[in-house]
Amino acid sequence: MIAFEHVYKKYPNPVDMWALEDLHFGIEPGEMIFLLGESGAGKSTVLKMITLEERPTHGRVLAAGFDSESISRSQVPYLRRRCGMVFQDFRLIKDKTVFENVAYCLRMTGTLERTIITRAVSRVLHSVGIYGKRERFPHELSGGEQQRAAIGRALIHEPPILLADEPTGNLDLETGSEIMEILARLHLLGTTVLVATHNREFAQRFATRSLTLHAGRVVEDLFLRPHGTEIY
Ligand code: ADP
Repeated sequence: MIAFEHVYKKYPNPVDMWALEDLHFGIEPGEMIFLLGESGAGKSTVLKMITLEERPTHGRVLAAGFDSESISRSQVPYLRRRCGMVFQDFRLIKDKTVFENVAYCLRMTGTLERTIITRAVSRVLHSVGIYGKRERFPHELSGGEQQRAAIGRALIHEPPILLADEPTGNLDLETGSEIMEILARLHLLGTTVLVATHNREFAQRFATRSLTLHAGRVVEDLFLRPHGTEIY
């Protein structure tokens, strides 16, 4: 589903430091992988390489059938539709309701039929438990509810891959657990889930595998449990 082949990444500034150094691993469909490591270890950069928000300086990234070396500019939106994304700060559009935040993604990709939009948006909002608040604006929701809405939006194109960058970073422990349970449920339904976090306890509870980064290198690759045996 995803492969990093000897990937190196250097940002333009500062030019003398590798943000990622010789990352080489594969991720099978249906894994729930936690990327662990302290701040600055390279977790977000790994996620950005998958969606090609950032390109490898050397090496190649394969994801959802696309290859960073051969993908054309016009194919990048199709890659991104195959990778749902969730962030620490939710990134909902402030002046749109929950429903409209999700519907907007469908309209942007050419789905204009009202009944199709209503059915698809309702389905994802039900699946993340936020349907009852579909007419609320982001500022009228708790952090956990905003993250549910953001996960719903990430699911609207039924992506095979879900990337979550510190999805519980702005939430208390209990709400964070609820969000992780939603991600774990998606994983059980077949989505390949990558979660970047510094929370090792969540990894112990939910991950099938953890990759620990330190200064841009993988320092530990642990298979924690077979698919489908999460403890939560
Ligand atoms: P993490 O997600 O683990 O906190 P990041 O992937 O954000 O780590 O960062 C990895 C390294 O790359 C850090 O040294 C960080 O300072 C650097 N970095 C990240 N983004 C940029 C950028 N846009 N420009 C320059 N350096 C960056």
